Amino acid sequence: MGKDYIPQLNRDNFCFDTNIVHLIPVQAARRLKAFPMFKVNKKLVVALTEPENLEKLDELSKITSLDISPVKVDEQDFTDFLNEVYLEIEFNDDSFKKRLSSSSAIEVLDGLLEEAISRRASDIHIELLESQISIRFRIDGEMTISGAYPYSIHEEVISRIKLISGMDISEKRLPQEGKFVWDANGSEIDLRVVTLPTIRGESAVIRILDSKNIKRRLNSLGFEDDFLKRYRELINKNQGLILICGPTGSGKTTTLYTTIQELKLDKKKIVAIEDPCEYQLDKITQIEVDKDIGLDYESGLKAILRGDPDVILIGEIRNSETARIALEAALTGHLVFATLHTTTCISAIYRLLEMKLPAYMIADSLLLIINQRLVRKLCLNCHQKREISEINKEKIKEVGLDISKIFIPNGCRKCDNKGYRGRTLIFEALVINEYLKKSILLGINDNIGIDFDKLEYISMEHVASEKIENGIISLSDTLSYLKET
Ligand SMILES: [Zn+2]
Repeated sequence: MGKDYIPQLNRDNFCFDTNIVHLIPVQAARRLKAFPMFKVNKKLVVALTEPENLEKLDELSKITSLDISPVKVDEQDFTDFLNEVYLEIEFNDDSFKKRLSSSSAIEVLDGLLEEAISRRASDIHIELLESQISIRFRIDGEMTISGAYPYSIHEEVISRIKLISGMDISEKRLPQEGKFVWDANGSEIDLRVVTLPTIRGESAVIRILDSKNIKRRLNSLGFEDDFLKRYRELINKNQGLILICGPTGSGKTTTLYTTIQELKLDKKKIVAIEDPCEYQLDKITQIEVDKDIGLDYESGLKAILRGDPDVILIGEIRNSETARIALEAALTGHLVFATLHTTTCISAIYRLLEMKLPAYMIADSLLLIINQRLVRKLCLNCHQKREISEINKEKIKEVGLDISKIFIPNGCRKCDNKGYRGRTLIFEALVINEYLKKSILLGINDNIGIDFDKLEYISMEHVASEKIENGIISLSDTLSYLKET
């Protein structure tokens, strides 16, 4: 060791000997971010994300009892590589062997569900590869390979899934949807299943809707204290519209439901219309859109309004007709919550204007717009403080963050060696104050003429900066979110 020059691994010329993959066990490979490439006599060539880290090299040497010759690999390439060879590595893993030897589909499925729930997965993906069936979990938004089982029991597994989720077992050529309830150590968990016919056979995705996720308190979502106070004031108004924005997968539904739980459920009539209803809740009347029978958002909302509700929750505003009904309801004594698929707060206003809704209706009904993203939380047990590099200083300036230190993921037992555990929100929030109302009435256009100092506004950069400084989220994750908006 002690080299001056460390070669860089290029993803186009990955070259490794699959026979020696076992030299570094999977857990160690994850933790040290290292994988073995090939072995020459007593020397092992290892690709690492931190080849200059002598402690890691030392540990690798101890694990393998070989001299380590490091090669640098990019973080992204490392992840890709590990995922690619993981299935092969998994063959040496005990839990995988156990799954292979499980004789029945029931055992396989039970094992899968137990593992997925204990690892806090949001969904299970059963996918057909050439030689085996791959199982992947989505945990904190990221796909993770969990193992595989042989083709010989696949049909049985799929039949079992279809049976318990109320699908037609004999129908194999068309996609199907179903659901079932799973008892996980005494607490009931709702699962939604989709099966898809693929060219290799039927695949399945099982979504795990653990209602514990939405029975959390508002302050566990990631809203900061100052904003939370203001938010609680606004959600307790008797009328008006509160919009939650963000792309798919940004946690809008969770925010909506957690918010609703804070309202005085016993004293208010709360009706929700969604497509589909993701969670079943007490004390809230939930209606599911069903286009097959002509029940869409518009007709559903009209019916809801006739039933004299106090609070209305609209799964998503997708067109101008739904938007119009939402605004009218918000102007006539109802508190309305809805999600809208836009990427900034201000563009939510433009979207409503584009839908040809009158400016006065928008100005008078809107109370608040939140635009949010779900970001992985660093494991607080093992995150490490770092100085900011010159390159990062540039990037930080570019996106408008204000930070003096950062934390990076490491990996420990608490976080499954991932360095991350759970997710939190970064968000921007725009309260519709008198100034903004006037601006909307006068006709705002592409931010021109808006004096941001006169807005009641919290920027996503501000929120993200605080969370980075406190070691809650990583700079790299934040940059990828801020760049996309
Ligand atoms: Zn950790």
